[in-house]
Amino acid sequence: MRAPKNGATRELFWLLRSFRHPGLAKPVGILNHLRVITVEEAQTLIQENVTPMARETVSIESCLNRVLAEPLLADRDLPPFNRSTFDGFAIASTDASSGTGAFSIVGVGFAGEPKLELRNPGDCIEIMTGAPVPDGADCVIKVEDTNVDGNVVRLNDDVIVKPGIGIHPQGSDAHSKQELLKAGRRMTAKEIAIAASIGKSKLLVAKDPRILIVTTGDELVDIASAPLPHQIRRSNDLSLSIALRTAGYQNVERHHLVDDLKETESFVSEALSQYDILILAGGVSKGKKDYLPDALERAGVRKSFQWVSQRPGKPLWFGTLDTAQHRPNVFALPGNPVSCFTCLHRYALPALNLSSGLNSTPTPKALLGEPFRFPPPLTLFLPAKLQIDEDARPWATPLPFNTSSDFISVASTDGFLELPSSQTEFEKGVPFPFYPWSV
Ligand code: AMP
Ligand code: MG
Repeated sequence: MRAPKNGATRELFWLLRSFRHPGLAKPVGILNHLRVITVEEAQTLIQENVTPMARETVSIESCLNRVLAEPLLADRDLPPFNRSTFDGFAIASTDASSGTGAFSIVGVGFAGEPKLELRNPGDCIEIMTGAPVPDGADCVIKVEDTNVDGNVVRLNDDVIVKPGIGIHPQGSDAHSKQELLKAGRRMTAKEIAIAASIGKSKLLVAKDPRILIVTTGDELVDIASAPLPHQIRRSNDLSLSIALRTAGYQNVERHHLVDDLKETESFVSEALSQYDILILAGGVSKGKKDYLPDALERAGVRKSFQWVSQRPGKPLWFGTLDTAQHRPNVFALPGNPVSCFTCLHRYALPALNLSSGLNSTPTPKALLGEPFRFPPPLTLFLPAKLQIDEDARPWATPLPFNTSSDFISVASTDGFLELPSSQTEFEKGVPFPFYPWSV
C-alpha cells in the first residue's frame, strides 16, 4: 500500500505501519520527524536506516577505492623462501669463525632461479638481492664487505658475521593463511599491492553506490551562463560531487531542478528507482517554494527527520524509500553552501561509508585553537584550520566567517570542529571532534 499524500493521514499511516512492522518504520522515527532533534539523534536515525550496499566481484585492475567485502588471506608464506637482502656472498657463519676468512665461490644464485645448495665447508655462493638463500648457508655478506680475487672471496676484518644477517626469513612477514586485510578496507595502492602479491586477481567488494546530487532553485544558473543581477551560479552540485569522488565514490551524477512541485515530484519518483542514494540541496526549509519535503513524501519516501538543532544546517531532511527490492536513502541538505558542505561531511559521507561496509574509526579530535563563545543551544559546526605543533598535537583554529553561504572563507579551513550544544563557553586547548573536509 502506498503512503497517503495528505499530511495528517500520512502521519497516521506511518504510525500504524510502525506498529505492524516494527523493524521497518521505527516509532522513534515517527515521533522524531515532527520535531527538532539533536545531532546525536539524527546520526542514530541515519545509522538505523542506512541501506547496506550489495556486493560484486571486480577485477583487481578496477578495484581502486572500492570497499573490500572479504578478508584477504596469504596464499603461502611471505616471503615464500629465505630471501637474500643483499648482493653478496651466502656462507655458513661457523665457517667464518673456524676458517681463514676466505671462501671459494662455487656458484651464483640469481633472483628468479631455484635455490642452490652449499655442500662443503669454506665454500660460498655469490648471491643477488631477492635470490633464495642456499641450503647450508645462514647469512649473506654484502659485496662491499668483501674482497674478491678470482674465484676466492675474503671477508673484510671488521665485518660482523652472525646467523640471519642478510636474510629475510621465509614467513617472517606473514605465514600461509594469515589474514592480511580485513573486510571493510578501502582499496588504495597499498591494499592493492597486497592483493596482487597473493594472487587475488578478482575481489569481492561493495558495489559503488549510484549517487545522484540534485540541486534546486530558480535563482541558480549554470557555471558557463552569464547570470542576471538576481541570479547566482550553481556551485554546490560540483563541490559535493567532487568531495564524494575524493572520498572514493565515483558513481556520482548531477541534476538541477527548478522550484516546481510537480516537476520535483515526478523527477524524484523516477530518480528513486535508479539511484542508491539521493543527495538533494536546497528547497528543504520553510520557504514558499521549498517543495522538496512534500515532493519526497508524495514520492513515498518515509521521513526520519527534518530539523536538527545545529548550526549551520538546521533544515536537514532524511528519509528512506521502503520498497522490497530497492531501499534508497535520501538526504535533503540545506542549500547554503557551507551548510550543505558541512552536512555532507557530517551525515551523508558517514552514511555512505556505513552502507559500503567501510571500517569505522572514531572521529579524530583536535584542540580548540582559541577561546570561543556560542550561546545558542545548538551544536556548532565550526570551520577551522588545522595545525600540528612541535609536540605533534593537532590544533584547530576557527577562522572568522560571515554566514553559512560564505564558502570563500571555508576554502581556508581544513574541516570543522563539532562543539556541543550543552556549552556556551569553549576554552582554548580543549579537544573536540574534528571532521576533515574530503579534499
Ligand atoms: P535554499 O535552501 O533553497 O533556501 O537555499 C539557501 C541559499 O543557498 C540560497 O541563497 C540559495 O541561492 C543558495 N543555494 C542553493 N543551492 C545552491 C547551489 N547549488 N549553489 C550555490 N548556492 C546555492
Ligand atoms: Mg531554494
